[in-house]
Amino acid sequence: MERLSPFSRRDMLKAGGAAAVMAAGLPLLPGPALAKADKSANQVPGYYRFDLGDLELTIVSDGNLVIPTALEASNVPEAELRAFLEANYLNPETNYSQMNVCLINTGDELILVDAGGGSYFQDSAGKLVQNLEAAGHSADQIDKIILTHGHPDHCWGVIDDFAEEPRFPNAVYYMNGKELDFWLSKNAVDRLPENLKLFATGAYRNLNPIKDKTTRTKNAFEVSPGIRTIDSFGHTLAHQSVMIEQGGEKLLITGDAVHHWPITFEHPDWTPSVDMEPEVAIKTRKRLMNMAADEKLTVVGYHMPYPGIGHIARDGNVFRWVPAQWQWQP
Ligand SMILES: [Zn+2]
Repeated sequence: MERLSPFSRRDMLKAGGAAAVMAAGLPLLPGPALAKADKSANQVPGYYRFDLGDLELTIVSDGNLVIPTALEASNVPEAELRAFLEANYLNPETNYSQMNVCLINTGDELILVDAGGGSYFQDSAGKLVQNLEAAGHSADQIDKIILTHGHPDHCWGVIDDFAEEPRFPNAVYYMNGKELDFWLSKNAVDRLPENLKLFATGAYRNLNPIKDKTTRTKNAFEVSPGIRTIDSFGHTLAHQSVMIEQGGEKLLITGDAVHHWPITFEHPDWTPSVDMEPEVAIKTRKRLMNMAADEKLTVVGYHMPYPGIGHIARDGNVFRWVPAQWQWQP
């Protein structure tokens, strides 16, 4: 077949487009305008996998929350909080908070730690099932759900978008017995300040339908071999965290006992206004952070920067969050 030019198209592109075409003696024709692409609102799928011993863990995002930063440290002067956040390049008014739900695949069971915020809390949340599906799992495959506490961003996802049926139809639940009793009692509405009373009515709406499928845990309850609860009270009355031990490795899922990066680490005495018992919460987070630093634990933080996996280092009298390096192969 006769060729128009001694140069292939690839040679011309390599040599620099139009200049190469002219050098080859070919007419320079006007090409089509480059297409303008619409901006995409989609991010990459919200899951991240890693191994712990024989277990496969996947952080499945439920999306994010947007809340006033003042709620993250209600016992310090506003100017001090603002200066600290600005020094960390964070928005001083609005806190963008991740929701890192941990999925544990033991080989026999799929276990979720928390269930996300569902569709009634914030529009930016409630993405758990969508991201679970992107990760290759369906809601009906989930065997067990450990609920760290009764706040909306952790337990409102247990019921479907119509507030009727369990979103994870084959799952059973594990929640500290005192925590479950509290949220199912009239006491919950009375104990919460006016602006948080919605938490109590929502918790009742979501927890009451699953109460008969919920095992009432206490400290060191073994949910599955090597997977145990740890009492971490204060953020709520009977908040629990989760410790996983596998093949000589240990991983701590803090829930909200460790609440904000970097406030919780650098200022563990600053208290979020959502901490129900602030003095207890301060002691709890220092205990967990000291344990994580002493034992060099891998830590998963629900509200830490996505995917929320890291370590906690001691830094003088306070702490530092050290994010784990992103790895493409689990
Ligand atoms: Zn939370």
